[in-house]
Amino acid sequence: MQSNECPKCGGLMEMSADRRKMCCPYCMGEFVIDEREEDAFDKKNVIDPLLFDSEWDIESLRSKPNGKDFIDEFLYAVNELCKADAVKENLLKMLSKSTNSDMATQSVHSDLLSTAKAKVSSVLDPGEEVLAYQNTGLFSKGKEGTVLTDKRIITFDTKKTPFELYKDIRSLTLDIGSGIPTVKVNGEFAVRMSMLGSNYRGTGAAAALICLYALAQNPDLKKIKLC
Ligand SMILES: [Zn+2]
Repeated sequence: MQSNECPKCGGLMEMSADRRKMCCPYCMGEFVIDEREEDAFDKKNVIDPLLFDSEWDIESLRSKPNGKDFIDEFLYAVNELCKADAVKENLLKMLSKSTNSDMATQSVHSDLLSTAKAKVSSVLDPGEEVLAYQNTGLFSKGKEGTVLTDKRIITFDTKKTPFELYKDIRSLTLDIGSGIPTVKVNGEFAVRMSMLGSNYRGTGAAAALICLYALAQNPDLKKIKLC
């Protein structure tokens, strides 16, 4: 469907929250954008073209070290859980089993999360929820790393705390070259949400969560570019 005009009454239609329908607020008409049968959509092997402009090659990612964990979790989150809240719950549940002392949430290594939270508190909005922290410096516990909130992703070190609001996100770049899946947002800010040492399902879930927050918090964002 090319036009935003309602075929019934000519009113300006709006996209539904799940982006699969156009809804007319004047005559209450609903029109499916993508005609495919829900059952025919291969949730395990397709990056949804309604939400993403993707350059990722799923099979090639699966063949890389830790790539399968990353991509399978990403696809499960965006295709089957679909909503940011569900993906958040799943991510926190997954990370709560972490034995990695560089990874913190409310339920695991919460002292480390508190340290990180204090470090970034000046950039947070009132009520903003701090979900997880990943320390990235081997000898710098709590001094540098990535903080994931429900509004932004923050990277900080001893000098600066830059952040990217989800509503400003346009692209996600995946680097898996070293065998450690790392995600960059708009070309910057590394994201590594690992668990159990070498298991990177958490990074896949975090990447999906960022995308779903971006799509939910920016109604003008049509698609996220995956590079
Ligand atoms: Zn209408």
